[in-house]
Amino acid sequence: MTHCRTATALLSLGLALAALAGAGCRNANILSKEEEIRIGRDGATRIEETYPVSRNPADQSLVERIGQKIATVNNLDWPFTFKVLEDKQVNAISLPGGPVYVFRGLLNLSEGNEDEIALVIAHEIAHIERRHVAKMYTQGVLTDLVILLGTQGTAQTAAQVVQMFAEMRFSRDDEYESDRLGIQYAYKAGFDPNGLIRFFEKLKRLEGENKGDIVSNNLRTHPLTDARIKRAKEEIAKVVQAVNREQETAALLRALNNSNSR
Ligand SMILES: [Zn+2]
Repeated sequence: MTHCRTATALLSLGLALAALAGAGCRNANILSKEEEIRIGRDGATRIEETYPVSRNPADQSLVERIGQKIATVNNLDWPFTFKVLEDKQVNAISLPGGPVYVFRGLLNLSEGNEDEIALVIAHEIAHIERRHVAKMYTQGVLTDLVILLGTQGTAQTAAQVVQMFAEMRFSRDDEYESDRLGIQYAYKAGFDPNGLIRFFEKLKRLEGENKGDIVSNNLRTHPLTDARIKRAKEEIAKVVQAVNREQETAALLRALNNSNSR
């Protein structure tokens, strides 16, 4: 464990990643929550320099209201921010430690359907909560992250940072985990999890129509296969059943308490 702490200290100094590779703490997360939050904030500044944040108050508040509701209901403890970016990409991204962005292209494709937007946001929230970026970094997959840990970057590194987050490629397991948790988070917050399936179908249709170029890299590399859609459907059935059972039990207990206190 001492090794891990040393690695973290080196990292804070912005030293070369090579030093970390040999540190031998592949199971532990070498980034602290605080470091993740800082990286996310740095990244958010660069993202917002590249893609303008929407000035449409209705869209902004819609995305914020949905995101905060999901975070609050599920007791998720990160400094989340939810913003719309004015860019035609059909994309949504999350940065470590809290920032979530929905692109204009995605909002348009959802046609303002709150369930669809909620499921996409919940998926991104799950990446943050499960610390998938930090995990990749710990595994030595995401070596570019070190750019964010050094001194303030030049314009060139800013572009690299934006590219890294906009084209983030999580493992298939991490994507499945985010689908599963996202479904759970969104359903508990009162949204219809089938919004995810509807949104997936729309994306597929868009790709089928050869408008694939406007479907961003990010969502395309989020593997949108029939297997993923099938799995999401099964997950929805399971989550709905489990959450309903939980709520029924809670209601039953409340009723029992009430009748006892009479
Ligand atoms: Zn994802």
